[in-house]
Amino acid sequence: MTLLWVLGFVLLGSVGAVCGAGLFLLFPERMRRVLIPYVISYATGTLLAAALLGLLPEAMEQAAVEPVLALVLAGLVVFFILERLMVWRHCHMEGPCETHHNTAGYLILVGDALHNFVDGAVIAAAFLSSIPLGIATGLAVIAHELPQEVGDFGILLDSGFGRSQAFLWNTLSASASVPGALAAYVALDQVEHLVPSVLALSAASFLYIGLADLVPGLHGRIGANAGLGQFGVMLLGVGTIALFRLHHG
Ligand SMILES: [Zn+2]
Repeated sequence: MTLLWVLGFVLLGSVGAVCGAGLFLLFPERMRRVLIPYVISYATGTLLAAALLGLLPEAMEQAAVEPVLALVLAGLVVFFILERLMVWRHCHMEGPCETHHNTAGYLILVGDALHNFVDGAVIAAAFLSSIPLGIATGLAVIAHELPQEVGDFGILLDSGFGRSQAFLWNTLSASASVPGALAAYVALDQVEHLVPSVLALSAASFLYIGLADLVPGLHGRIGANAGLGQFGVMLLGVGTIALFRLHHG
């Protein structure tokens, strides 16, 4: 039963996000430019809340505080190194940005496959702890994958992929979340004491994506009103996750 939940959210957060991004690209460009920062603000709220209200408290219920926090720290450093090596990349803006210029389409696909593999494992670990934590975590994945896939389409089209080609390759690299989820599901079912460690690393991944990748892209692009709107949407993201955590008690 848990496996069905896992697979449902994993598919929504990967292939679902690619399809959602594909539909989103049918909107006029001006509308997309207005909407994307709001989607990113919402995603930031869900990621930070899922990490700090969901994954970390759960990890600390199952294991001691110090090793959990040490793993979060290690995770943050590793994600920084991976990003420097251009393996891990989260740039959600359409149009030119430094990462886009420096990264070829195929490298994007490889980095994305790795990222989605991890996202799948994160969802599985969360559902193995509790269904509400799994749902909260799954929502945070869907929320950040949607703008991520929009950005990916832009890069792939820029680097010469045709539309259907871009869609196909994007779907394929997103599908890496399924083996990620299955591997984590089987492994964590066997070695249960690893669950808090995986939750801690998942929290690090969410914190890193939210603070290091998404927030910087929101700065300096907008006036005060839109800024206030984005702040509101970010709180909405936090609220969504808090709702599921309240259920958990
Ligand atoms: Zn992701």
